[in-house]
Amino acid sequence: MTTTRKLSPRTLTAQALGRIAQPYHDIAPPIHVSTTFERAGDGSYPGGRLYARDVSPAFDQAEALLTELEGGHQSLLFASGMAAATAVIMTLAPGQRVVACRSMYWALRNWLVNFCAQWQIGLDFYDGADIDDLVRQLRAAPTDLLWIETPANPSWEVTDIAAAASAAHALGATVVVDSTVATPLHTRPLELGADIVMHSATKYLNGHSDVIAGALVCREDSPRWQQIRRNRNMGGAILGTFESWLLLRGMRTLHLRVAQSSASAQAIAEALVGHPGVVEVLYPGLPSHVNHAVAARQMQGGFGGMLSIRTIGGEARARAVTAALSVFKRATSLGAVESLAEHRASVEGPGSACPVDLIRLSIGIEASEDLLTDLLAALESGSGSG
Ligand SMILES: *Cc1c(COP(=O)(O)O)cnc(C)c1O
Repeated sequence: MTTTRKLSPRTLTAQALGRIAQPYHDIAPPIHVSTTFERAGDGSYPGGRLYARDVSPAFDQAEALLTELEGGHQSLLFASGMAAATAVIMTLAPGQRVVACRSMYWALRNWLVNFCAQWQIGLDFYDGADIDDLVRQLRAAPTDLLWIETPANPSWEVTDIAAAASAAHALGATVVVDSTVATPLHTRPLELGADIVMHSATKYLNGHSDVIAGALVCREDSPRWQQIRRNRNMGGAILGTFESWLLLRGMRTLHLRVAQSSASAQAIAEALVGHPGVVEVLYPGLPSHVNHAVAARQMQGGFGGMLSIRTIGGEARARAVTAALSVFKRATSLGAVESLAEHRASVEGPGSACPVDLIRLSIGIEASEDLLTDLLAALESGSGSG
């Protein structure tokens, strides 16, 4: 596969369905449904597989494509992003310690807090906007795992992966990056020194709001990676056959979708800066963003399709603006072809650190003029009474 490395990610994704030769030289792959594989009389497995909870041709191709896109050694698909993330965390033993990004995907943060408390695993958070704080937290006590999310929910802080990885590796810690929002097209964490990349493939990789899936990609094999493999096999959180097929199909247009979402997000963010109804626009592509300099170095071809706005008038106004949207769909999740908006603090619920005046926007591939007009109208509506 050495020749494929020279191909652009755009070519790799566009031709994803046809890259692994099938017996009939299909352009689109078949859906592999077999759960078990025949054994020869001598006890060997001529197909190289034993049972589909371990490895299955159903997910071979999507895994191979993701490995190429991330420039990694190997990928594992999971039944969800959470299944992928928890498979990594479950490699930790009592007495070990994790340092994680303070603002991160809320469900994972909650689970992490409870899991670490239950198993006496140390857990400390760093300020996602501040690399010095990250290094300080790493050095405060022996660290086994550094969990980075970049850009991080819901304010899109960008952690300097190269700087974080060199500090973590000097202390012997494994570096994991939740790169769901960046996608392999904007950031390649393994090339910057990360050990494992995690994706909620539910989001941009699949991109059509119709598959829940997760993925991990490693830079190189390691005892921890082998343990993660066993966690998937024994925990059984594998991706279904049809979902694997849909994911591969979705990835075929990844480059087009991501390019459009990022370009529109940049245009919308710029257009909303200075709007009288908006206190702050949070987007790494804006020079005003706290981590714009790092983002400009670390992200290629755009800053992603996620942005947040903080409205004047506090929570009531943020909810009213969200309610007044009509092109944006009010729903959680992100990274699909249709644009979504949510009043984030109320989705996260009690204990959330998310500002109550924040609306999180996932920019899809619709005409950006329609999205901007919708936002401007919603910001206008009731502004006299807000
Ligand atoms: C959605 C999401 C997850 C969780 O993934 P699921 O596929 O919903 O289990 C983790 N991290 C980020 C950044 C996400 O957006």
